[in-house]
Amino acid sequence: PSPLSDRLAAMNESATIAMAKKARELAAQGVDVISLSFGEPDFQTPQYIKDAAKQAIDDGFTFYTPVPGIPDLRQAICDKFRRDNDLNFQPNQIVVSTGAKQSLANAVLSLVNPGDEVIVLSPYWVSYEEMVKLAEGVTIVLAGSLENDYKATAAQLEAAITPRTKLIMYSSPCNPTGAVFSREELGEFAAVMMRHPQVYALADEIYEYINFTGEHYSLARFPEIKDRVVTVNGFSKGYAMTGWRLGYLAARADIAAACEKVQSQITSGTCSIAQKAGVAALAGGRGSADEMVEAYRRRRDLVLNIVKDIPGMVTPTPSGAFYIFPDVSAFFGCTAPDGSRIEDASDLALYLLNDAHVAAVSGDAFGAPSCIRFSTAAADEKLAEAFRRIKVSLAKL
Ligand code: PLP
Repeated sequence: PSPLSDRLAAMNESATIAMAKKARELAAQGVDVISLSFGEPDFQTPQYIKDAAKQAIDDGFTFYTPVPGIPDLRQAICDKFRRDNDLNFQPNQIVVSTGAKQSLANAVLSLVNPGDEVIVLSPYWVSYEEMVKLAEGVTIVLAGSLENDYKATAAQLEAAITPRTKLIMYSSPCNPTGAVFSREELGEFAAVMMRHPQVYALADEIYEYINFTGEHYSLARFPEIKDRVVTVNGFSKGYAMTGWRLGYLAARADIAAACEKVQSQITSGTCSIAQKAGVAALAGGRGSADEMVEAYRRRRDLVLNIVKDIPGMVTPTPSGAFYIFPDVSAFFGCTAPDGSRIEDASDLALYLLNDAHVAAVSGDAFGAPSCIRFSTAAADEKLAEAFRRIKVSLAKL
């Protein structure tokens, strides 16, 4: 018998990581693979942030830190929330973690009891469902429609809430769809939450700065429910700092304390050097992010311009993040030139990898089995070449 726990047996491997592995294997055989499977900025971390990290090393700032983060970073995060989001937090409401991923996991483990229902707005980021499984909660998927830019509505939310509902999870801007919930839409969610005082929300705002609409709104801004919202953000996307592993959450003090407790027993405070880099990043404002956003917008437009001429690929225009998430169900049931049948999005992703040498991720892992996700965080020429190849390969089906 397997020695592995039941908890682990129930867990899926990250689909994005699995696809990246396949693409690397093909590339190792000498194939010119264009990888659009990973959610990673292709920019360098800005120099002023790197300099602060070097300084931290030279200053000998290389010891354990307080579990929820160093005081100057927690303060800088409070200042950021005030400046960008009109939200007022005290440092004891902030917990800094090893990436926004750990912040999300801390919050789920702190709030969800076995059997509690967690409503996940779908399409959703791959890890949400697995985190809920780890906490032995029950995921209730709430699917947004293509017609509504894949955004679930407040009416759907109201209908899905039961006495067992504990938590709502979503990202905005959304990975994988790029959808951005407006102030009005979030206000409608807040109104639903007001009617259900047992329900909390986990708002993942990691793509905050990568927003093409000009407005990012936080669910925590609605005063009636702000104490029931955990807001997660971080440095990976907006400051191109994926490898530094630095994220944070802001929550009511007792919830933040619970998250600190979880973290204290698993990882302790995150890297001291990365935390100093984070202080510098926030002090520099969002200037560097704005330059990157211009590139992401240009690439989105470049890709959409090719995709509009690919019959069978249907996509809303992403309002943020760096993905496109077209519906590709028109190809299901088609036969590839080698005689194999394309039954679903996983088959299509595999076909595109083998025929076009472009790596993407099947929508299954995001709760959207008729879709496929392409990252647009790649150089313009690479994106143009990838979608030219995709167009040719799809025409053969
Ligand atoms: N939330 C979403 C929606 C993401 O796409 C990602 C990264 O891909 C994360 C959280 C995790 O971010 P971090 O690298 O800070 O752990």
